[in-house]
Amino acid sequence: MLVLQGKSALGSIAIGSLQIYHHKDNSISQEKVEDVEAEIERFHQALREAEDNLKNLYEKAKNVVGEEDAAIFQAQELMLTDPDYVGSVEEFIRTNKNRAEAAVKATALSFENIFAGMEDSYMQARAADVQDVSRQLINVLIAEEEGTGLKGKIILGAKDLTPSETMNLDKNKVLAFVTTKGSLTSHAAILAKTLGIPAVVGVGKEIINAYQGKYTIVDGFTGTVYIDPDEKTIRLMKEKIEKNKVVEAALEEVIGKPSVTKEGKSLQVYANISSPRDLVHALHNDAEGIGLFRSEFLYLERDNYPTEDEQFEAYKAVLSGMRGKKVIIRTLDIGADKQVSYFQMPEESNPALGLRAIRICLARPDIFKPQLRALLRASAYGNLGIMLPMIVSVEEIRRTRSYIDEIKTELATKRIPYNPNVQLGIMVETPAAALISAELAKEVDFFSIGTNDLVQYTMAMDRQDERMEKLVDTHHPAILKLLKMIVDSAHEAGIRCGICGEMGSDLSMLENYIKWGVDEVSVTPGFVLNVRKRIREL
Ligand code: PEP
Ligand code: MG
Repeated sequence: MLVLQGKSALGSIAIGSLQIYHHKDNSISQEKVEDVEAEIERFHQALREAEDNLKNLYEKAKNVVGEEDAAIFQAQELMLTDPDYVGSVEEFIRTNKNRAEAAVKATALSFENIFAGMEDSYMQARAADVQDVSRQLINVLIAEEEGTGLKGKIILGAKDLTPSETMNLDKNKVLAFVTTKGSLTSHAAILAKTLGIPAVVGVGKEIINAYQGKYTIVDGFTGTVYIDPDEKTIRLMKEKIEKNKVVEAALEEVIGKPSVTKEGKSLQVYANISSPRDLVHALHNDAEGIGLFRSEFLYLERDNYPTEDEQFEAYKAVLSGMRGKKVIIRTLDIGADKQVSYFQMPEESNPALGLRAIRICLARPDIFKPQLRALLRASAYGNLGIMLPMIVSVEEIRRTRSYIDEIKTELATKRIPYNPNVQLGIMVETPAAALISAELAKEVDFFSIGTNDLVQYTMAMDRQDERMEKLVDTHHPAILKLLKMIVDSAHEAGIRCGICGEMGSDLSMLENYIKWGVDEVSVTPGFVLNVRKRIREL
């Protein structure tokens, strides 16, 4: 048995035979053509066909994953018909008298090199798109059979998968996929998650031909892949599948029901998201709101600052999608474990105690103000709460509020719509904030407790260190005392208090939260129903 460990995009288990997927551009003939113009015409025919394929792919993707994620195929269509690209292929055929597929491959390579060598990180990333569209064109030219040519139901193993390859996966045949490379934010993983295909990405080890046809189990709950599993693993995994079926059926029963105890006490269950793409899961799991949208992921997924408009579109998508339910968007929480190279931050000896979150924002209004402006513009499209991370003082809130007031005036002058009553809240995640929570509560409209950092800073135990993870006691009396103190301060000031750190999904704490009067817990979308079910049983 070989065990591979990667990151999983979807919690479910698949069992099947492993088929290795190879990109289809390795059988290109280098033979010369006699009639160059006829070959150019052949290229144009293929171009039209590939363009139609992309149009169909866009329509198919739009219905399944929504317009935003499908837009990649529209962008690829533009790239495919770009006059420079088309002209270069024609030129190559004329000069070298090669077949069109060889000309496309050579052109793709030179375009990829040009893009990869550019300064602008957005343009650098286009190299992968050129590669993908060219591969599609070559597939048409060498007239390979449609689809992946997969036999029966299989688990797909590949070095990596492009967005179009992922989108083209036949969901009835591909039970799961495993890739050597890739992150959870790669397009392939995102599309797989949205398509409901369990994927384990970034296993590190090469998926070699020797594994072809091997009985394989993909455990999407843990990100583990078992190739040629032993009897015991097979039995355990089959038991896990059966258990999960029962769990899922029971969970579906609480969809649409309120999160209240048998005595009628309410504790709302919201979802945490990192991107508008996660909205589909929040909605699918019937979240009562978004308790934490970690906006820094808009910055982490790329190599340059997102523009105000890009941020506005992302926030608007979430606010409109939640249709009037509360959406709490946290302003940039960069720093500590979330480093972004283009911020060019100086090296810190202890980044968790360094220039992070609100500290960076207040030091860099050139970054902070566009985000606040994007948030205020988006506030016209739903029920927004703006939340500030890592607060330690009243001063930080007041300085932010003065930026907000300034931007509101500017928007009003320009007649740009925004909600004048948009709520401003804070993460209470430092011991300092907890201890002065009574003062802070008078300054804001809501609190949300970030237990991940609150525990780390109170216990002086690095949340990144797996050895500390084993030692830390999240139910330590100091933590419980701080939590209760924060909730009481909020309620004395007449504002709401939620919990959006991982302790929000600590089922053994729900009874305490209800007793203290916590207003909401915000958890990963896939856990909303588990928490609601437990609350209803109390
Ligand atoms: C927290 O600290 O509990 C929290 C929710 O924020 P993050 O995990 O993003 O630091
Ligand atoms: Mg935090």
